[in-house]
Amino acid sequence: MSETIEKVKCLIIGSGPAGYTAAIYAARANMKPVLYQGMQPGGQLTTTNEVENFPGYPDGITGPEMMMELQKQAERFETDVRNGWITKVDFSGDIHKVWVNETKEIHSDTVIISTGATAKYLGLPSEQKYLKLGGGVSACAICDGFFYRNQEVVIVGAGDSACEEAHYLSKLCKKVTMLVRRDEFRASKIMRSRVKNTQNIEILYNTDTQEVLGDGQVVTGVRVKNNVTGIEHEIPATGFFVAIGHKPNTDIFKDFLNLDPTGYIINKPGTAKTNVEGVFVSGDAADHVYRQAVTAAGTGCMAALDAERYLAAKDSSYEVHTSTYN
Ligand code: NDP
Repeated sequence: MSETIEKVKCLIIGSGPAGYTAAIYAARANMKPVLYQGMQPGGQLTTTNEVENFPGYPDGITGPEMMMELQKQAERFETDVRNGWITKVDFSGDIHKVWVNETKEIHSDTVIISTGATAKYLGLPSEQKYLKLGGGVSACAICDGFFYRNQEVVIVGAGDSACEEAHYLSKLCKKVTMLVRRDEFRASKIMRSRVKNTQNIEILYNTDTQEVLGDGQVVTGVRVKNNVTGIEHEIPATGFFVAIGHKPNTDIFKDFLNLDPTGYIINKPGTAKTNVEGVFVSGDAADHVYRQAVTAAGTGCMAALDAERYLAAKDSSYEVHTSTYN
């Protein structure tokens, strides 16, 4: 049991582009936001090398640098950025209760969830090695595909994301080899026919990844095995893309919030509102379609504005701060 309960107006959970953008808007609206960074301060972008598609950075910026800039901007307006992991919530009453590291209890008028999603990887040691080295393993074709222009790449997965990403890569790369572990796709008919009808995409069915090959620095190929014939072979490639799904980081909310069957928080269309008054969601925790830093930032802004309006409606002495709409 907590010794003292802290009361705050706006609690933001998560420190990716969604969380920090929500913080910038909430802080400028005088909501005195407290932001908990979570296990991976900076979120998924800290595992990306170069971000070239976030507007306003004509020369690109590294993921970690961009997150430091966002944190600085949030702190400039006095966001209270803290280390800590939210382990439990109780959204059953008017006051939203949140526990940090199992012990500290916070009561907040509004909560903005920006906990993101985690890309799934195969878990092979060779895959993890080149992922950590930034040497050619990626879970985001839209983020990293550009670095493989006119090169040969491999993508693993057979769902809508894999098809969409393979098609995206096919427009940049010389050749895309798609590894499908079963003898059929999971993707919708339209998505799978798109990849089947693209000349520079080769589809290998019943195929498992055995090892991501490299020279110690960068990826040079992939060793695969046909799980029906047992035959192995090597595919030359400079990029290895993994598109086998994402897991939204929403487990602790499942007793209170409406989630879709894969765990994404369901927001009211066109807003950041959840089914619980005063609890809002932004970023990839609710978005399995776009999953971009810029869309996450946009929904972070929406969440802060929705939270501010909620506070204003609840308490007429709380004025909507017009500067947030500038
Ligand atoms: P899915 O869960 O739909 O698909 C994951 C794919 O990865 C499956 O084909 C699965 O194979 C494969 N896979 C899983 N683990 C492994 C492994 N260890 N080795 C090899 N392959 C593996 O995830 P998505 O991200 O594709 O889609 C998530 C949701 O988002 C879906 O509802 C999808 O429809 C939606 N979406 C919609 C889009 C659109 O409409 N534009 C775009 C992107 C996503 P298997 O089939 O054998 O299980």
